[in-house]
Amino acid sequence: MSALSAIDIGTNSVRLLITDSAGRELARVMRMTRLGQGVDVTGDIGDLVGEPMLEHKAVAQAHVAVEVIAGQNRRFDPATIAAVCFTEPEIVSAGLLPKEAEAAGHDPVSAVFPFQANGRALSMEAGDTGGFVRVVARKSDHRVVGLQAVGAHVSELSGEFAMSIEMGARLEDLAGTIHVHPTLSEAVHEAALRALGHAIHI
Ligand SMILES: Cc1cc2nc3c(=O)[nH]c(=O)nc-3n(C[C@H](O)[C@H](O)[C@H](O)COP(=O)(O)OP(=O)(O)OC[C@H]3O[C@@H](n4cnc5c(N)ncnc54)[C@H](O)[C@@H]3O)c2cc1C
Repeated sequence: MSALSAIDIGTNSVRLLITDSAGRELARVMRMTRLGQGVDVTGDIGDLVGEPMLEHKAVAQAHVAVEVIAGQNRRFDPATIAAVCFTEPEIVSAGLLPKEAEAAGHDPVSAVFPFQANGRALSMEAGDTGGFVRVVARKSDHRVVGLQAVGAHVSELSGEFAMSIEMGARLEDLAGTIHVHPTLSEAVHEAALRALGHAIHI
């Protein structure tokens, strides 16, 4: 495993140090930026690019930048970057909200499944605080374009949310996936079922 660190970031250039796992120097790289030479190492990574200003986005962009520097044909093109508010209750959102999906011309269908009807939420005494999972999909082909949740520990659903959108899941994929009982993730399954018109526990 090698590591990349910035020695100096100037206005138009960046000097990088690439080391091996023992910290030994493998290479020093000078990249000119904003001059159209290869990847813009400063401008293509992290908060400098703009929203969303999130750690996991910066790291993913850095991985792509390093691979481009190493000569690989890679580009940063995620379907979604999930975001979490680590508040009480937590809020997680991936992809489009219903209104955003509508504005994007998706003619969306959306459905909410409340944690009041989720066994794990009830056992954690998090079922009566108004928490929910919402799924947003295109009416035409049921492709999932957004997933949101509010409630205790819902940040742990962000991986399933992002992967569903990244892999182009349809409502039938979420509804057809057997989710472990009792978990909060069952609410994802039930929201998809509800969007398809046949929720079981509500
Ligand atoms: C209080 C706080 C809480 C946050 N919580 C979260 C969270 O829970 N989840 C989340 O996803 N994101 C969170 N973020 C956002 C996240 O930290 C940033 O999106 C992320 O660190 C951006 O990475 P970056 O590489 O663009 O910038 P940075 O992480 O700021 O890295 C830039 C680096 O460049 C160095 N540097 C600057 N100028 C030079 C120079 N001239 N030469 C050499 N080095 C230089 C700096 O010292 C720094 O180490 C939080 C941010 C803050 C401030």
